[in-house]
Order: sequence, then C-alpha cells, then structure tokens
Amino acid sequence: MKSVCLKQPGEISLVDIPPTRRGEGEILIKVRSAGICGSDIGAYKGVNPLVSYPRIIGHEIAGEVIEVPDDEVGLMPGDRVILEPYVYCGHCYPCSIGHTNCCENLTVRGVHIEGGMAEYVSHPRHLLHKVPDSIPWNLVPMAEPLVISMHAVKQSETRAGEHVVIFGAGQIGLLAAQYAMAIGAIAIVVDPVDERLALAKSLGIAHTINPVSSDAQEAIKVITKGRMAEVVIEASGAAPAIRNAIDYVSYAGRISLVGWPKNDIALPTALITKKELTIRGSRNSVGQFPESLRLIAEGKINVAALLTKSVSIDETPATVVDIAEHPERYLKVTCLF
Ligand SMILES: [Zn+2]
Ligand SMILES: [Zn+2]
Repeated sequence: MKSVCLKQPGEISLVDIPPTRRGEGEILIKVRSAGICGSDIGAYKGVNPLVSYPRIIGHEIAGEVIEVPDDEVGLMPGDRVILEPYVYCGHCYPCSIGHTNCCENLTVRGVHIEGGMAEYVSHPRHLLHKVPDSIPWNLVPMAEPLVISMHAVKQSETRAGEHVVIFGAGQIGLLAAQYAMAIGAIAIVVDPVDERLALAKSLGIAHTINPVSSDAQEAIKVITKGRMAEVVIEASGAAPAIRNAIDYVSYAGRISLVGWPKNDIALPTALITKKELTIRGSRNSVGQFPESLRLIAEGKINVAALLTKSVSIDETPATVVDIAEHPERYLKVTCLF
C-alpha cells in the first residue's frame, strides 16, 4: 500500500509498504482523507524533537471501516469514522483523573508512532468516532484541529458575553474564534497578516486587530470599554503575543496557552499576581470529537473557508515540501485517498 513517509528530516516521498493488518482489539480502516497539519510540517523540517524517523506522517485521518473485531457492537464495515490520534496509557496520574490528553506516556500518530497517511490504518476502537454523512471527506479531517481549538476555549472557561482575544489567525485561532462565538462570546482576533484578518472578518468575527499597524492594547481597551478581555487564547506561539496576553487580559482574567513557543519566554509574574490571572496550558483535547463533528455538520463552524485546497495522495509529498517553503500560501490542505 502507498504511504507518505519521512525517511529523515527534509526527505519525504511516497513509499510502498506491506498493507496494514487489523491489530488485536482494533478496527481496520480504509483511509479516505487526511489533513496536513503544522506538526507534519515540523516533522518534515526536523524541528519537532518528539518525532523519530523513518516515520509515516499524519494524525488528522478519516476513513471507512473495513474490518472489526468479532465482538464489536458499535461500528460496522462501511461506517465513516475519524481517528482520535492521541493514544493514551490509561494508568498514569493524568489518565486516572480523566486528562488523557496529557497522558505521561502519550503517543500521537505521525509523531511517536506511525501516522495515518497510508491507504489503510488499524486503530483502537475507543478512539474512533462516527462521522455524519453530510460532511464531505475533504473536510472531515478538520474536526481534529477543531477539537484542539475547542479544548483551548474550554480551558479558559469562556462564558457567553465575554470578550475573547485570540492571538493568531491560523486555523487553530480561527476555529477557536468561531467556537467562542458559537457559545455566545465576542471574538477579537489579533494577527499581523491583513489577509488573514480579512478572512476572519468574512467568517463573521466582529473585531480584528493588526498589532503591527495599530495599537492593539488601546483597541482592546476601546472594544471592552476599559475592562480589557476576560479571556485571551494564545494560538500563535509567538513570544511577543504570549507576553502581551498579560496586558490584554482583564484583572481576574483567564489565559489559555495552546500555541507552542520555540523558546522559554520571560513573563512579569508580579503582574500575574497583581491581576490575579489564571493561566492554563491546553494540549490536544479530551472527549470533544462528537461535538466537533456535530458543529461542522450543522454548519455552526465553517471549516470549508479555511481549506486552501485538497490534493491526491500522489501529490502529498510535494505539497508538504511546498507548505514548508511557503507557509504563507496555505491555511489548510487535506489529502484525498
Ligand atoms: Zn493537527
Ligand atoms: Zn496515561
């Protein structure tokens, strides 16, 4: 079967490998679509220390059930499913309190273990979710970045009517903004790229701010009538954004950190104490795939607007290279098998 494989950083190609067989207690899936994620690009560039090589990439994987264990009652051959790619151990401390998303022994497909960009994949049955027929294959993989964004909003305990500043108008930021709006909050998207802000506006996001060409702090002050934002979601990973979050958030506000900064960042901890801020990390997601799929199916979250294009599996290696070289040209690409 065909697979999209990284031999080593910078070397990606279509590799023919023996077809995957169904693992013990697992479900065999014929892959129909896959999303190319920032972490796949990081693996290609060799900047993700968690990735070992050679490695089949891909963790945003959707497909059709081919074969199930004899005692399976939930899923049947022909069912459309998406993989929850975060394979947790179930017995460490975070797993024991339900935080399987930050399992101490977490293995993510395409990172620590083989990914799903191949014609077939076998996956644990409890990590599969049925996909409504109304979502076309090229959009199904986007339920994965959506759960990342939903978890970031959930970690901030955003409530209806609150102002949520979102740093970064990439896919995670734009999905977080749409989800915040879906629960009745007011989204304010901050990004230095005007085209991305225009896209945010087209999605119905009320407030967009370019922090390079305008005074973002002053703008947020005006929008929030002096209070500043009750919530900040940091989805850019950029050092200045993380530092500015502390200024843009209100007293007694909450900050959710979902972006991955490259280096340690110095923060004014006295100001965190003075404003009594709650700062939370947000990693992967837990239990949010069903709601994510429902929001997409009901049209409450527009994922199609974030799709730059869809390519075939044969075109995928060259597309990964092009995204790595020209990241500004792409928001989201999905591969159709
Ligand atoms: Zn992803
Ligand atoms: Zn665990």
